[in-house]
Amino acid sequence: MQYYSTRNKKDKFTFEQVFLNALAADGGLYIPESIPVWSQETIENMKDLSFQELSFEIFKVFTGSTFENEELASIINHSYSTFKIQEVVKSKVVDGISCVELFHGPTLAFKDVAMQVLGNMYQNLLSKSKNKMNLVTATSGDTGAAAIDALKSKPYLNIFVLHPEHKVSETQRRLMTSVADSNVFNIAIQGTFDDCQYLVKEMFNDKEFRNKIQMSGVNSINWARIVAQIVYYFYIYLKQSVFKRMIVSVPTGNFGDVYAGYVAKKMGLPIEKLIIASNHNNLLENCIATGLYKPSTVKPSISPSMDIQVASNFERIVFDICEHNDLRVKQLMQDLKEKKQFQLSDIELSNLQKYFLACSVSEEETKNTIAELHRAFDVILDPHSAIGFYALKKLVSFDNNYSYFCLETAHPCKFPDAIHDAIQMDPPVPNFVKEIFAKKEKFVVLKNDLDSLKKYIILKAS
Ligand SMILES: *Cc1c(COP(=O)(O)O)cnc(C)c1O
Repeated sequence: MQYYSTRNKKDKFTFEQVFLNALAADGGLYIPESIPVWSQETIENMKDLSFQELSFEIFKVFTGSTFENEELASIINHSYSTFKIQEVVKSKVVDGISCVELFHGPTLAFKDVAMQVLGNMYQNLLSKSKNKMNLVTATSGDTGAAAIDALKSKPYLNIFVLHPEHKVSETQRRLMTSVADSNVFNIAIQGTFDDCQYLVKEMFNDKEFRNKIQMSGVNSINWARIVAQIVYYFYIYLKQSVFKRMIVSVPTGNFGDVYAGYVAKKMGLPIEKLIIASNHNNLLENCIATGLYKPSTVKPSISPSMDIQVASNFERIVFDICEHNDLRVKQLMQDLKEKKQFQLSDIELSNLQKYFLACSVSEEETKNTIAELHRAFDVILDPHSAIGFYALKKLVSFDNNYSYFCLETAHPCKFPDAIHDAIQMDPPVPNFVKEIFAKKEKFVVLKNDLDSLKKYIILKAS
């Protein structure tokens, strides 16, 4: 399989290049030249596969000849051996909705599902080439911890994680800053997540800097993360007792997880609609309604991993709804940079609306959902997952011909204050999480300033 950038279809890349570069040199995102379509029969024949086996089949499609089969299988098996449950993900039915628990990895959010695999892929490729790399990533709270856990103590690698100072929960922060390995660097930026993301993008776009430190990225724009996330859409479909078309609600920030669902649909998975569920940062709800993509300033919320106003992966969907017109994508992204917004055409907008519904959920509605589900069903959803649940209930009238899923993106113990506020009770906390509160934290605080950040990274990079 070959890849190109959303902003230039002429140059082609292999999976290995796409994975290691993360972001295309022209600022665009990598996507496959074409996505293979599986027949319903092919899909259903995979129903007895374990999560790991299914993951192998899907990665095989997208990685081509980058890994030998045994290498790929070993990367995948090794990655999921860190999960607390052998099946990797499992579901529970709450009020007619299958809540898909994606948080059984080492840092208790769905990000682990992809990040553990990425960590082992880097290890595999770099131990062959003996190259050193410095990974730099921005986090709204969960990517950072997942990346650190996946990459700590790995040779050939340093990991720099930028999080917005005071804007992640204490549990989220400690999961990152309590890791003592010498290849891990935590940086609290005095700004928002969007500022952090912007700084990382600027460093990527600075070729000299990028080459100097052998920079790569594990943000949700890395195509390998998308691939890992495609797997659970297939898995939950195949674990149904009767195969029904799916409607899936996805708590959304950077548009990576929901975009993986879209790719699964393109591969032939019977998904009827994907619901983009967001908090009061309602950029995407507005865009799906009017075609105007206009980021404003981030409003903090009790679902901080979705406090985002620049949904990086959205460019991939824009490419599709523009019928793969790279020049049009380039123009729209230019508009975004210069005019701080872009407007989709009527056709592009109706393409978008074919696949997606969107719902922005207020803080009050989120808390009420947590309280109501706890009272009626004795389950505690984390604030992000509660947003997905609420959006599904609000937008869809239930019908027996479909099955309804809500992705549960994090364990509630990562957000104890929000949970306590909603149900006047603390969520259960696994023992390994309790331990991080006794550990020493390691991080530096830097201004929201590109030059100071670059200086710091150059000093620490190797
Ligand atoms: C990252 C994250 C999201 C948003 O996922 P995207 O792929 O960025 O849209 C939602 N919920 C939680 C808990 C997260 O960590």
